[in-house]
Amino acid sequence: MAKKTAKKSKPSKMVYYFGKTKTEGKGVGKDLLGGKGLNLADMTSIGLPVPPGITITTQVCADYYKGGKKLPKGLMDEVHEGVATLEKELKKKFGDNKNPLLVSVRSGAAVSMPGMMNTILNLGLTDESVVALANATNNQRFAYDAYRRLIDMFGDVVMEVDRDHFEHAFTAIKKKYNAAQDNEVPAEGLIELCSEYKAIYKKYTGEDFPQDPMKQLELAIEAVFKSWNTTRAVRYREVEGIRGLLGTAVNVQSMAYGNMGQDCGTGVAFTRNPSTGENKFYGEFLIDAQGEDVVAGIRTPQPVAEMSKWNKAVYKQLLEIKDTLEAHYKDVQDIEFTIEKGELFMLQTRNGKRTGAAAVKIACDMVKEGLIDEETALLRIPANDLTQLLLPSFTPESKKNAKVLTIGLPASPGAAVGALAFTAEEAVERSHAGEKVLLVRKETSPEDIDGMHSAVGILTSTGGMTSHAAVVARGWGRCCVAGAGEVEIDEKGRKIKVGGKTFKHSDIISIDGSTGQVMEGSVETSEPKLSGDFAKVMKWADQYRTLGVRTNADTPKDSQRARDFGAEGIGLCRTEHMFFEEDRITSMREMILAETEADRRAALAKLLPFQREDFVGIFTAMKNLPVTVRLLDPPLHEFLPHDPKAQKEMADMLGVSPAKVKSRVAALHESNPMLGHRGCRLSVTYPEILEMQVTAIVEAAIECKKNRINAMPEIMIPLVVTAAELALLRAKTEETIEKTKADKGFSGQLDILIGTMIEIPRAALTANEVAEYAEFFSFGTNDLTQMTFGYSRDDVNTFLPDYTRLEILPNDPFQSLDTSGVGQLVEMGVTKGRKGRKGLKCGICGEHGGDPASINFCHTVGLDYVSCSPFRVPIARLAAAQAAIRNGK
Ligand code: ADP
Ligand code: MG
Ligand code: MG
Repeated sequence: MAKKTAKKSKPSKMVYYFGKTKTEGKGVGKDLLGGKGLNLADMTSIGLPVPPGITITTQVCADYYKGGKKLPKGLMDEVHEGVATLEKELKKKFGDNKNPLLVSVRSGAAVSMPGMMNTILNLGLTDESVVALANATNNQRFAYDAYRRLIDMFGDVVMEVDRDHFEHAFTAIKKKYNAAQDNEVPAEGLIELCSEYKAIYKKYTGEDFPQDPMKQLELAIEAVFKSWNTTRAVRYREVEGIRGLLGTAVNVQSMAYGNMGQDCGTGVAFTRNPSTGENKFYGEFLIDAQGEDVVAGIRTPQPVAEMSKWNKAVYKQLLEIKDTLEAHYKDVQDIEFTIEKGELFMLQTRNGKRTGAAAVKIACDMVKEGLIDEETALLRIPANDLTQLLLPSFTPESKKNAKVLTIGLPASPGAAVGALAFTAEEAVERSHAGEKVLLVRKETSPEDIDGMHSAVGILTSTGGMTSHAAVVARGWGRCCVAGAGEVEIDEKGRKIKVGGKTFKHSDIISIDGSTGQVMEGSVETSEPKLSGDFAKVMKWADQYRTLGVRTNADTPKDSQRARDFGAEGIGLCRTEHMFFEEDRITSMREMILAETEADRRAALAKLLPFQREDFVGIFTAMKNLPVTVRLLDPPLHEFLPHDPKAQKEMADMLGVSPAKVKSRVAALHESNPMLGHRGCRLSVTYPEILEMQVTAIVEAAIECKKNRINAMPEIMIPLVVTAAELALLRAKTEETIEKTKADKGFSGQLDILIGTMIEIPRAALTANEVAEYAEFFSFGTNDLTQMTFGYSRDDVNTFLPDYTRLEILPNDPFQSLDTSGVGQLVEMGVTKGRKGRKGLKCGICGEHGGDPASINFCHTVGLDYVSCSPFRVPIARLAAAQAAIRNGK
């Protein structure tokens, strides 16, 4: 007992060391160490060359905010202790005036947020220690290069000094010393620059640049914690749906210097191509450079393969490390490294972000290579990322005729066609207004996140394959062509010049993210196909999943497409869409205006042949597979025009007075149409509507049978609240089926199932009673969510964003099923329903049927199938397999 309390009261460890002396972070986990911290500890412990350092946990970040933005007590003591160990290990001293130890201060949350939080390099330098560093290394240029970087980064990150001030001073110095590149400025130029930087620092902060290294460190640690809640970091988490993290960890790591001269350098690489998945080392490096120089586009980096010409031994070592890392993590790694005087140091590794296509190829290749098994491969592919493989691509014929203006880097595959937007805000605005735009920027920065997300594609004139734009675009599967240097961007004039031509903001261009081509005008695209590795993954998925996958479709074209994507039937065929076409809407309106049953029947009789032909088409496309047809669902007013002009036209067309139309519209007006006269309630008041629809379904099925096409319709009665309601309508449906068969002289088997949608809480609560009259249930989770939450699904945009931002709700319940609330009703519906009728078939047909997290839930509550839009069918197949693997088959 006593022991336990003692353990509890001991404050938890805030700082973990990684290095030769000891590596404490093993087994502590990503949640506390952050991804970067954990992997630095990991790499150290498997013997890779990592500069030693310490990691301050994410818990400390959480405590920092809890305590009113104050560093928790005792933290700096633990930091001092860690630094002391570092000093011993490296035989250097922090702030020393002989051989100073310098460190980087780096952020790193449990989920990687590239470029979201800032890093400070060379921390520990002061006016005194910079002289010491110059002497110790016999390299004055290097020492002052490190110092100017520190003042710049510290000024920016800690004190919020606008980097432009530093940038201007640097440009002036470069000019003065006739230096084309930053690394051509001689030592005396950098000494001069450091003085100017300190003056700028003082001017904008009112303080001297801190000359106490420990003070620098403390301020830097706090700045990293603050960066967790900057607008851009918060926004990134919102866009990516990252929630529930403690905060960021802080890594304080001894420096490796890539900026000491021509035998030094720094680089970033992926162990395989993150765009295509090809098993080829992929990356860039820059000689005599530090930190972000590679990705910031300061000078043009070289492809990593060129490294063998520069330093064969280091390249060989890097290739070995690449293999070690893949074998260790069994996944593609995204690495950062630095070479200090020919010695290689690893600075970061993480699972590489990749496109959907790359994810599929890598998963298949790794199974072939024996690195992972099929189940792991299936779990490895984010189901939603398959969307990218289901996007259109440019047709080979249209590509042949396209005028290529220039070729940039193929940074993120896909085909994008759009007008030109020159700022993130403009891209957001114009996309919201329904326009397709390409975001055209010299280079993107984290502030552009929103615009990048809204645009159909991204085109930049500078930056490499690992630039911000490229990394973010690949993560989202957004088409991106980067570094198209020949594109001259005139942001103010809102135009670009390329290939000798000028394009205004309203002009259309096409970009191919798989080849880097920038093309004039709108190049034709074609539908995707399911083949190669994609088909293989789908085959594996089908072997593991137990859930069926159907589609929501109401046309033969959509049905066929879904079938090609592997749909096993239609889970929801909406019939209201069939009434909107030109030749039908008139009869529909005639029916709604009719004052007697006879008139209504006459109008319905005109609609019947249209419906029948629609069904014949759909049943044919879906032959041998079930098609669940939902009877008319929306309130009738949706079929009538609401503005006077259109009402007059309608009156003329039907030969009635405009006043009559107006009064019918007024009569149909409801305060809460979603809770009004709709769904099966229409069939209760107007049974002739149900009769017509059922007749059309049965006649279509008979026609198909006569043509040896096995139609398998199922009739679904929507919006049922009570068993008695369904009993009545079921009897009416059965009667109509028999009558139609008799009328057609058809004596064969039809086996039409009759079931209902469970979309009102009461129906779920009384599912055992309802099931007596239903051969199947389909959970209509859109309405079920609306009615359970009491949120009008057409109006949620006014408040829902606040609810998710404030984390009152974990996510939009209309997108991802609320498993704890609405989920209970689904589970109850299944359990009670199957009590009422053994083996009751249950499915889901709301939007949730295509959402991987919701599909996982559907698997666990024992649904028979999910139904989703045609393009989500492959995603659902994979998600269903993942659910089966995760939950044990
Ligand atoms: P991000 O999370 O944005 O990638 P990092 O913390 O990884 O930021 O650091 C930014 C850059 O600084 C990277 O290029 C990284 O390799 C480099 N860097 C960080 N720490 C060190 C270090 N101790 N020595 C040398 N370079 C470093
Ligand atoms: Mg990094
Ligand atoms: Mg509904």
